[in-house]
Amino acid sequence: MKLRLFICKKTDLRDYSQSHYIRFAVIDLEKSKKYPANYVCMLPQQPRVNGKANNVFSKLFGKDSVDIAKELLKKSLRSESDIEIKKEIEKRLKIVEPKAPPKTKCHVCKKYFTIEKGRFRQRVCLECRKKFQKRKETSTRKKKI
Ligand SMILES: [Zn+2]
Repeated sequence: MKLRLFICKKTDLRDYSQSHYIRFAVIDLEKSKKYPANYVCMLPQQPRVNGKANNVFSKLFGKDSVDIAKELLKKSLRSESDIEIKKEIEKRLKIVEPKAPPKTKCHVCKKYFTIEKGRFRQRVCLECRKKFQKRKETSTRKKKI
């Protein structure tokens, strides 16, 4: 099998905004050079959900489906020139390959916690920070009195 992605934009006629939706079809170049004769299946947004094969693609490629999907998307991203399609490929790559959020040890309670988005050097977990803020609030209130 020589797999590639065949990506095409279609105008959804039911959508009055005339927006395009982008179809990702998996093709096999060994089968035929022409679409749709070489059509294998559609590329799902998520090949495997919780390790289960729930679409044709993941049934065909089993455990390798995530890696194959990633490879196909990366290959297409390199050769694609359409900005709209490129964006869609990048979006799909993120869905296929979810990155675990970074974790760090809290300096106060020593528990591991997930760093919030956009906070680069977060050293104290949310719970400890809340406690700290409360303490600060009560102490400033006391001062005013
Ligand atoms: Zn903490």
